[in-house]
Amino acid sequence: MSHQHFCHIAGHYWDCDGKVLRPADTEPSTCICLPCGLPVEGFDHTKCGDAVELLACPKHREEALRRLAVARQEFHRRAGEFGLSEKCKKMQSLPEGAEKDTLLREIKAWILQGCVERQHEA
Ligand SMILES: [Zn+2]
Ligand SMILES: [Zn+2]
Ligand SMILES: [Zn+2]
Repeated sequence: MSHQHFCHIAGHYWDCDGKVLRPADTEPSTCICLPCGLPVEGFDHTKCGDAVELLACPKHREEALRRLAVARQEFHRRAGEFGLSEKCKKMQSLPEGAEKDTLLREIKAWILQGCVERQHEA
């Protein structure tokens, strides 16, 4: 028995036999059914719906790793420009109030902006 994953790199479904080497991992790991938390293979998941895990197929794993590295670099660059860690530290030290709210909104807006930018790339 096998199940399927959706490769988000090239946009296709592929068959998996229960264990797969995930990007950023060095050892293959067992596929876990997200709704119930049990291994995908060997258990009955008919009630779990068809939750398909987004996972790069073995052929596109290299590409997924490369994109991950680029995304991480880009995040660090943007976070540095924005002063994310300073802003977070400052926010944590502030007492509840308008100043803290403003800063929190600013940080949230920044994170949201990053998500929107990534969607535009895709
Ligand atoms: Zn799998
Ligand atoms: Zn399940
Ligand atoms: Zn693929």
